Amino acid sequence: MKFKSTREANVSCTAAEAIKAGISHDGGLFVPECFPAVTAEEIRAMVGMGYKERAAFILGRYLTDYSAEEIKSYCEAAYRDTKWGGADTAPTVKLDETASICELWHGPTCAFKDIALQMLPHLLAGAVRKTGEDKTVVILVATSGDTGKAALDGFCDVDGTKIIVFYPEKGVSNIQKLQMTTQDGSNVYVAAINGNFDNAQSGVKAIFGDREVEAELSAAGYKLSSANSINFGRLVPQVVYYFSSYCDLVARGEIEIGDKINFCVPTGNFGNILAGFYAKQMGLPVAKLICASNENNILTDFIQTGVYDRNRNFYLTASPSMDILISSNLERLLFHLSGGDAALTADYMKQLAETGRYEVTDAIRKAVAEHFSAGFCDDDATRAVIGKTYAEHKYVCDTHTAVAVGVYRDYAARTGDSTKTVIMSTASPFKFSGDVLKGLGVSEELSDFDKLDKLESFGIQAPAQLAGLKNKSVRFDKVFDKSEMLSAVREFLQF
Ligand SMILES: *Cc1c(COP(=O)(O)O)cnc(C)c1O
Repeated sequence: MKFKSTREANVSCTAAEAIKAGISHDGGLFVPECFPAVTAEEIRAMVGMGYKERAAFILGRYLTDYSAEEIKSYCEAAYRDTKWGGADTAPTVKLDETASICELWHGPTCAFKDIALQMLPHLLAGAVRKTGEDKTVVILVATSGDTGKAALDGFCDVDGTKIIVFYPEKGVSNIQKLQMTTQDGSNVYVAAINGNFDNAQSGVKAIFGDREVEAELSAAGYKLSSANSINFGRLVPQVVYYFSSYCDLVARGEIEIGDKINFCVPTGNFGNILAGFYAKQMGLPVAKLICASNENNILTDFIQTGVYDRNRNFYLTASPSMDILISSNLERLLFHLSGGDAALTADYMKQLAETGRYEVTDAIRKAVAEHFSAGFCDDDATRAVIGKTYAEHKYVCDTHTAVAVGVYRDYAARTGDSTKTVIMSTASPFKFSGDVLKGLGVSEELSDFDKLDKLESFGIQAPAQLAGLKNKSVRFDKVFDKSEMLSAVREFLQF
């Protein structure tokens, strides 16, 4: 399997090269040259497999330059039972007669990014070896909270890698700070920055862009890389759970192989739901992919009208991981639905950069409407959904998941569609306990850890990764000025 760029027709590389580079030199994203087909018989065989085997099967279809043994060992390490609270990495639980919830947050940081970020380090370390690089890969991350922790945990003690995370000293929650500063691992380093997230981000970009530093690092045996969400190595592990939840419904007798189901996905950067589109293109029987947004509903408008326009207000919401106005992964969808037209995709992205807006052709708009439906849910409605879902089903969902539940309910009422639907659940309710408690009708002011205790009174158990933070000791307490980020890197890597 070769990979090409969404923006330039003559790019061709292996999976390892695409994963190592992250982004194509023309600014485009890497996409597979075709979608590998999965037959009904293969889906039947997957029903009898555990998650790790299902993952190895799907990854193997794309990563043909990795050996079966490599992929198997990566899946065993990334989805090790002890990291995910058991063998079922992404359990699908029944909500009612038509809806189920696929829980993607049983990993080390209690959010769905773990599914990809536990796998990416292995793919990246493998890619570096395959492309003849003998250096240690150093991942630099600037984070506003969640991605930093998920990346730290994913790269923790992975051979051939080191990771340095910068976070704004006053820009993350107490729990987020503790999650990072108590991180285990001999190859991890965490530094607070005296500045905001943009300062941290700019500092990291400056280090990446400095050719002298690159040469010095190279002489010391290091190569910088990023764990960015547009890396194909983050997309492919997400395709797995669409197949896996389908297989779970078959195993439970809710559907038969060949029956079509819907997926409803809380969406920000369009990575999760794009993986559902990939699964469909590979042959998974999918009817509609329902794209759920919060008040930042740029994707709802795009899917309904074919116009993508970021010239609008930006809202901070109770589902912060979906507060996004540029959904990077949409570029891949435009490329695929235009029949692989790199020039057209590049033109849309140029318009977006220059004017903040583009309008797709009628043919693309119709293709989008054929595969996708869309809706949004504001914060009040989201909290109401949390309360109602608990009252009716004794199920507590986080704010991001609640956006999807609300959008699904609206969709079902509007269309009368009674197709079985899997709602993707992207975070543990304990991760956003303040707003979840409000949705459940608890209004008292509580400290962070008291909120976890309070939420347990609704019949669910706080993940040990969060509750246990209380007793972990802080390993990284240094604060650097925003102008000293390079010194922090030098101090850690000793070059
Ligand atoms: C990142 C994230 C999302 C959005 O996923 P995309 O792939 O960016 O669309 C939704 N919910 C949570 C909790 C997340 O962390």
